[in-house]
Amino acid sequence: MFNTLSDRLTSVLQNLRGKGRLSEADVDATAREIRVALLEADVALPVVRAFIAKVKDRAKGTEVSQALNPAQQVVKIVNEELVAILGGETRRLDLAKNPPTVIMLAGLQGAGKTTLAGKLARWLKSQGHTPMLVACDLQRPNAVTQLQVVGERAGVPVFAPEPGNGVGDPVDVSRRGIDEAKRAQHDIVIVDTAGRLGVDEEMMRQAIDIRAAVQPDEVLFVVDAMIGQDAVNTATAFRDGVGFTGVVLTKLDGDARGGAALSVRELTGQPIMFASNGEKLEDFDVFHPDRMASRILGMGDVLTLIEQAEQAFDAEQAEATAQKLGSGQLTLEDFLEQMLAIRKMGPIANLLGMLPGAGQMKDQLAMLDEKHLDRVQAIIRGMTPAERDDPKIINASRRLRIANGSGVKVSDVNELVNRFFEARKMMSQMAGRFGL
Ligand code: GDP
Repeated sequence: MFNTLSDRLTSVLQNLRGKGRLSEADVDATAREIRVALLEADVALPVVRAFIAKVKDRAKGTEVSQALNPAQQVVKIVNEELVAILGGETRRLDLAKNPPTVIMLAGLQGAGKTTLAGKLARWLKSQGHTPMLVACDLQRPNAVTQLQVVGERAGVPVFAPEPGNGVGDPVDVSRRGIDEAKRAQHDIVIVDTAGRLGVDEEMMRQAIDIRAAVQPDEVLFVVDAMIGQDAVNTATAFRDGVGFTGVVLTKLDGDARGGAALSVRELTGQPIMFASNGEKLEDFDVFHPDRMASRILGMGDVLTLIEQAEQAFDAEQAEATAQKLGSGQLTLEDFLEQMLAIRKMGPIANLLGMLPGAGQMKDQLAMLDEKHLDRVQAIIRGMTPAERDDPKIINASRRLRIANGSGVKVSDVNELVNRFFEARKMMSQMAGRFGL
């Protein structure tokens, strides 16, 4: 996401590197290039103007810093202003003091509301909540079924009108949904509503009526980041119509030019709360303005990486592995477990993409071969427990058997086993050095 913008900004800022001091002309030239980069990324003009004015102003009267050279100061200013237009602080969900918390989703058809309902429910459930979904999109054929499918995948119940009763009244369904949530003691209710291809009065009226009926604690405006400048018009229409308390950007996985992300908060005054970046339920994140800014500026997103790692690894298991590492007793079984945990975090290329400077190694990342990892997994799975436990016993005939069993060449097995011994030796030396 934001690849083009990110590349442009990174290279603009890189041009400043190595300059001892910045002249006014340097600042002007940099500001001009940033302006073009933002406009090309579809950021709304008023937002670009305000952004550039602030950056220029601050860069010219550059705060004298002992620690940073002038170029670094410009990077810092751009970063801070970027964080500011993305909303500054991370905005968390506002949970009701008296459950259930009601979250209503609004947005155009195809924005990703139904998918988001599932993502949000799955995420909330993983945090110990007991969400329920309510299907109030009775306009689009299949919308109810789609929500039911998504709910099933997320493992949460869905309240929907009984089939066969005509289209039904969405406002009535929403009201009954909330009653049901109270009865079954769900602490969060997510209400999916109907969208249209464009903003229209009837849809807005219906959303307003549902809002009045369910009195939501949060109204999330769901917007497809790929629709560029239109996102801003749609957002303004929804703000003035039904009103919303937060924004969710979807489809950030496409080569979205990012304009929506950078304009919506500034123009509507409402924070971006979540980001959706794929069709699977786990392709979803809390939106952190500071992390997003550093990602856009090619400074990586190490915090998100750390969080994902925390979710993927079981602390006790990690501790046990660390101990084994230190004593040189790591087995291939441990290795396999670690590898599976890492892969649970998502495609390796995505993970590496969050590291600082990853923008510049995009091509190499694209070549990163998941198939190779599949092969390693298959080889280890083809070993007996005794072999995994003590790879030293894997002699030539065992290697042949493993290779045949997992459909690879003997040289692949050799390579894996040799690498494992090398890695184990190196890790145990390192652990010794760090006193683990
Ligand atoms: P709704 O009409 O607002 O309920 O939108 P849907 O949830 O039905 O989504 C419309 C289409 O967009 C579906 O094909 C989804 O799979 C897809 N979609 C939703 N969110 C994302 C996302 O973050 N990334 C991508 N690539 N596709 C998405």
